[in-house]
Amino acid sequence: MPFCRPDLTEEEIQEVVRAIRSGWITTGPKVREFEEAFARRIGAPWAVAVSSCTAGLHLSLAALGCGPGDEVITSTNTFTATAASIVQTGARPVLVDIEEDTFNIDPARVEEAITDRTRAIVPVHIAGHPAEMDRILESAASRRIPVIEDAAHSLPAAFRGRTIGTLSDLTCFSFYATKNLTTGEGGMITGAGEELHEKVALLGYHGMSRDGWKRYTSQGSWAYDILAHGFKYNLSDIAASMGLGQLARLDGMQERRRAIVARYDEAFASLDPVIRPVARPHVEHAWHLYVIRIRPEALTIDRDELIRRLAERKIGTSVHFIPLHRHTYYRESLGLSAGSFPVAERVFSTCVSLPLFPSMTGEEVDRVIGAVRGIIGESIR
Ligand SMILES: *Cc1c(COP(=O)(O)O)cnc(C)c1O
Repeated sequence: MPFCRPDLTEEEIQEVVRAIRSGWITTGPKVREFEEAFARRIGAPWAVAVSSCTAGLHLSLAALGCGPGDEVITSTNTFTATAASIVQTGARPVLVDIEEDTFNIDPARVEEAITDRTRAIVPVHIAGHPAEMDRILESAASRRIPVIEDAAHSLPAAFRGRTIGTLSDLTCFSFYATKNLTTGEGGMITGAGEELHEKVALLGYHGMSRDGWKRYTSQGSWAYDILAHGFKYNLSDIAASMGLGQLARLDGMQERRRAIVARYDEAFASLDPVIRPVARPHVEHAWHLYVIRIRPEALTIDRDELIRRLAERKIGTSVHFIPLHRHTYYRESLGLSAGSFPVAERVFSTCVSLPLFPSMTGEEVDRVIGAVRGIIGESIR
């Protein structure tokens, strides 16, 4: 029973084969179609496909002019890519602590971390639960600081009725193999302003003048100009073909995720040493992950032992995340200590992510429930 298994239909595989046979396998018409369909689905004025969410985050920061001497505020509870993309621009990541129930960046800590060097704020919607965007956007807007959302987990999600991807200057999605929608590797940036759109499109494709990708087509021309120091972050038509099929099935896949979550919630409701994940009433949760916490004081085992015993029963789990301040590189380069992140420390030492993916069978869901109940039941203090 793996932690995750990609959910691809025969039709999606055939679409990929058609893209390969079409004679056009890099960025082309399928990418444009995917961008338009994605923007429509989100309700965003534009979308630019990229090779990964990591690339998208770096491109977004670069488009906003982020560089050496700047500070960018983000959560310590995230994947390394969020902070690495900040380091890539030459700026310094400023890591802040999280909320105890949602595991998201704490808006009060964001407010405290703002200085006159703050160049951007990058909230992450952990597990698919949107961060408290009203407060974050308010802190940012009052000082004219741009916001870039790391929405790697939050397709599709909404905050107070507004779809994630329409709230901030720029939002970055991931289509990595484990994410709610996959293209194998890939990502998407959505945004509002036309100026940022042009900048993102320009810098994401070598800094090449518009439509440079057509230079090998009959409508293209050999002539192009390099207008800026750009990057090579485009998505291929092969990947976009997979994405178009996945996008058409997204609502169905989400329905399955919610059904699995409902069964987990029901099964663990009476299990006192287990804290179930929350969904605040004003959000639509993307349920990318189902993260439970244990109350160690009620048990004879700790989180690590729970993971070991689940593995013995052949159930894959994961931990989201090892907070960035715990990694050697960030600890040493940013001079961080665990004492500055008490909430993230508590959450990290007690959390575990259970398998949650649309192609999970009912029997597989039952196996996970049975194993968690069994292990917790035999470990009550
Ligand atoms: C997966 C992930 C990323 C990186 O996405 P890629 O598409 O693999 O680059 C960034 N942030 C978070 C929170 C993630 O989970």
